[in-house]
Amino acid sequence: MTAASIAVVTGAARGIGRAVTRRLVAAGSRVVAVDLDARGLDQLAQQLPAESVRVVPADVSTAEGVASYVDAAVDEFGGIDVFHNNAGIEGTVATLDESDVDAFDRVMRVNVRGVYLGLHAVLQVMRARGRGAVVNTASVAGLRGRVGLGPYVASKHAVLGLTRTAALEAAEYGVRVNAVCPGPVRTEMIERIDASALRAGEGVGTSTLCRYGTADEVAAVVCWLLGDESAFVTGGAYPVDGGRTAV
Ligand code: NAD
Repeated sequence: MTAASIAVVTGAARGIGRAVTRRLVAAGSRVVAVDLDARGLDQLAQQLPAESVRVVPADVSTAEGVASYVDAAVDEFGGIDVFHNNAGIEGTVATLDESDVDAFDRVMRVNVRGVYLGLHAVLQVMRARGRGAVVNTASVAGLRGRVGLGPYVASKHAVLGLTRTAALEAAEYGVRVNAVCPGPVRTEMIERIDASALRAGEGVGTSTLCRYGTADEVAAVVCWLLGDESAFVTGGAYPVDGGRTAV
């Protein structure tokens, strides 16, 4: 990523995606900000220079939604240099024996199909340009199991599989692909997960650093992975978890 980069960020209306969008704009990038939540996107856009942001309300789990954000980047900004493939949902907190199949399907649809569709479309654009960097948002749940979050854990393991395969395939045309693996980060998602876990009588736990991370602490690592300073880094899975996976 250079100061003139063209970026696409999914799940940009709040949390980690919003923090990444703000950092990219502050570094001089133009960003296509994608989310299901059109109102959240508009609120974000009001806080940023108009020439730096295009908002695209879209569902990343559909081919039409993905085409709409790729087209916006190509038609309005001329391509895609960096892609934060970030939108995700946590699903329902329940043990596998008590979970329901529809909840499993919903999580896999957004977290795996959505990430796959994004790679499928954006890598075509990057291949034609012969450059680019991608960061997929996985999770510590892509590296470890977690009680009550089976579908989410499975989906984030799948994100790492897609990341490693994309890195192997895209290296030959100059594109790097990495994953970030956040631990508990203070966003609306972790508030929902913790509330469900507490209702089920489970502990929530934070990190070895005894606190939640902030969205901006994850965004800093994402932007490093998207940028030229990480030019020799691809196929990796980077925990930003306050040491949670050290145990
Ligand atoms: P969040 O719920 O605050 O934000 C997620 C955003 O994604 C929301 O704005 C939501 O509208 C959007 N979104 C959901 N489904 C979508 C879809 N189908 N199409 C388009 N947009 C959609 O969550 P967050 O904490 O910022 O999470 C961002 C990513 O980080 C997710 O992939 C999540 O799994 C991952 N993550 C979060 C944590 C954490 O502790 N917060 C930890 C590990 C990984």
